[in-house]
Amino acid sequence: MSETKILLSENELPTRWYNIASDLPFSLDPPLGPDGKPIGPEALRPIFPQEIIRQEVSTERFIEIPQEVLEVYSLWRPTPMYRARRLEALLKTPARIYYKYEGVSPAGSHKPNTAVAQAYYNKQEGVRKIATETGAGQWGSALAFACNLFGLECTVYMVRVSYEQKPYRRIMMETWGAEVLPSPTSRTGAGKKMLAQDSDCPGSLGIAISEAVEDAATHTDVNYSLGSVLNHVLLHQTVIGLEAKRQFELAGDYPDIIVGCVGGGSNFAGYAFPFISDKLKGAREFRAIAVEPTACPTLTKGIYTYDFGDAVGLTPLLKMYTLGSSFVPPKIHAGGLRYHGDAPLLCGLIKEGWIEAVAYRQTEVFDAALVFARSEGIIPAPEPAHAIKCVIDEAIRCREEGKEKVIGFILSGHGHFDLSAYEAYLSGRLEDYELPDEKIRDALAALPRF
Ligand SMILES: *Cc1c(COP(=O)(O)O)cnc(C)c1O
Repeated sequence: MSETKILLSENELPTRWYNIASDLPFSLDPPLGPDGKPIGPEALRPIFPQEIIRQEVSTERFIEIPQEVLEVYSLWRPTPMYRARRLEALLKTPARIYYKYEGVSPAGSHKPNTAVAQAYYNKQEGVRKIATETGAGQWGSALAFACNLFGLECTVYMVRVSYEQKPYRRIMMETWGAEVLPSPTSRTGAGKKMLAQDSDCPGSLGIAISEAVEDAATHTDVNYSLGSVLNHVLLHQTVIGLEAKRQFELAGDYPDIIVGCVGGGSNFAGYAFPFISDKLKGAREFRAIAVEPTACPTLTKGIYTYDFGDAVGLTPLLKMYTLGSSFVPPKIHAGGLRYHGDAPLLCGLIKEGWIEAVAYRQTEVFDAALVFARSEGIIPAPEPAHAIKCVIDEAIRCREEGKEKVIGFILSGHGHFDLSAYEAYLSGRLEDYELPDEKIRDALAALPRF
């Protein structure tokens, strides 16, 4: 009988990230510039450090994690993997369920895994400050934490409605020394333009991105940083799956089903890609399931095509499943899953049939979150509660079919800053959003064409 908590010692912390680009049995379409022609890495020079750009286009199989980054990782890594024995007992399932828990990081999610690496490379290349955007504040807090450790300044353009309605993440960022501004601001051209149209503008993620990118592009000692979607972000997150593989070895198991939630794809990829590596080589067979909300069904209802990464059309065009960059998803509580597109690496693997995707409604996701909190104890963030819903469904299927499968999932963060969502659920005020197909059709009609 394996243990409940599967821990690695500090000297088992992986020293290299895994780059799945080296193992793909197909090629991915390159990012395109505004003229529809492929862009080279040099186009990213004004906003990213050289090493990040190198990693973005690298096809090396493993990339060394710098010593300074490992030292910071060791503050909370390796993270624990748990056998969900109480959940298994509650569901009366013969399945063995394991979860890798990233909520033990100082910011409470997986996001510091890339924030720390990005802050380090920026510091190495003499950058003074990193500018970024944040919606609910998860990415902003991870970056604020990382910048603080490496002595970098950090400016976070926070969507104004969130800034006003969700003060705790803002206070967290300020505690780590970041400057947090309600976006739109009068500091950038993009912000001034919005304020001129509407002095009471509530802001949006698209506007906040424009402000952060402009801040970086117009100052030589300021860079920009992104918390999901891009190849280098997924690369940094593979530290999760590399640890988890070792932990499965210690448990004497290997997953038959791997599950994670998808916003831009970084926690799912970070956990799953080191396992998918075995699948690509033909060494193992298992199902990998990416879970998203029905309110923002990028993978299940979007189309695979070129689209902008942001709402304004500033970024290069990426080949991905998208609902259209003009798509504004309903305000579900899993704020981290409200992105119109997804990571090109993940989308390519889904397109080629290596990974499946499913979507769930908000209320059934919170039903699952409560089952988990009341059996395993940890209160999950609304984002990974989507993965939990899928895991519970699969575990029940195992019971019905009498199959003893091994299910692994990633619990990407805790829900301590999402208690107002739990309050809405507990008081019966949580709503479902089944997106009408014509709304998706309208947003897709506005896609850029080539
Ligand atoms: C940001 C976030 C997500 C979604 O982003 P991915 O890039 O898809 O991982 C999921 N869970 C948590 C806890 C987050 O903070």
